[in-house]
Amino acid sequence: MSGKVFLVGAGPGDPELLTLKALRVLKGAQVVLHDDLVGPEILDLIPKLAEVRSVGKRCGRSSTPQEEINALLVTFASFGLNVVRLKGGDPSIFGRGGEEIEALRKANVEFEVIPGVTSALAAAAAAQISLTQRDKASAVVFLTSHHANPKETVQWKAHVSSGATLAIYMPGFHYEQTASQLMAAGLKGDTACAIVSRASSRQQQIHRTTVRELPNAPHLPAPTLLLVGDVVQAEQSVAMNELWNLTNEPSTQAPVADFAADGPTWGD
Ligand code: SAH
Repeated sequence: MSGKVFLVGAGPGDPELLTLKALRVLKGAQVVLHDDLVGPEILDLIPKLAEVRSVGKRCGRSSTPQEEINALLVTFASFGLNVVRLKGGDPSIFGRGGEEIEALRKANVEFEVIPGVTSALAAAAAAQISLTQRDKASAVVFLTSHHANPKETVQWKAHVSSGATLAIYMPGFHYEQTASQLMAAGLKGDTACAIVSRASSRQQQIHRTTVRELPNAPHLPAPTLLLVGDVVQAEQSVAMNELWNLTNEPSTQAPVADFAADGPTWGD
């Protein structure tokens, strides 16, 4: 009998942000292939007898090629096993979920996608902002300037003119370039933005600034996400961030996987 593959979103780091469904599927897993964004507290929930493999891809470190991950998923399922492919955030957002879905379809393997809380939502929650707001933004764009295909470019003008809040994944530390691309596309220099580092984890940090001042922003620990738009209030004080830390019991906040540098990475 053929097994089944579950493409599961592990959320942004805090294990309390796993869905009940993700937890149930994880508890029944016989094989787990996880990426580097999945932190230790979530990995601890995997049954002790399950085969667990890290197939992460971080810049500059050896990683499992995507074709090999696809082949592993198909092979383990063909042994009749319950296979969980565990990804940070949501599997469909910059997570190469599409390539795995294609491979599983092609091989006729039964699979199910279980959504997770994507990091843009955790970053917005951390910064205590609403990504859409009646008088400020009626759309949100999830984007990255880090493309698998170097010929692909960001449609900055289209995004800026849409007035949407921008959630920029894998921003790296190219703040100067990002700021000038945004302003060249027509965004006002005094538009607010926030860098959110390790959202939903104990080490979460937020730096609020404006697009013009973005090049002077500190290099916060990876993973980071950049939120841009009028919904991000630059004047919101540091005290607010401190308050966040005080009101969130540390024991419920998981560390996210530790990274040496914020190398842009696709899903991993
Ligand atoms: N599938 C993931 C995204 C994978 S791409 C999701 O839905 O969130 C990896 C990028 O996600 C990182 O470079 C960073 O920009 C963002 N990211 C992931 N976890 C994060 C976190 N806890 N805090 C801030 N950004 C995060």
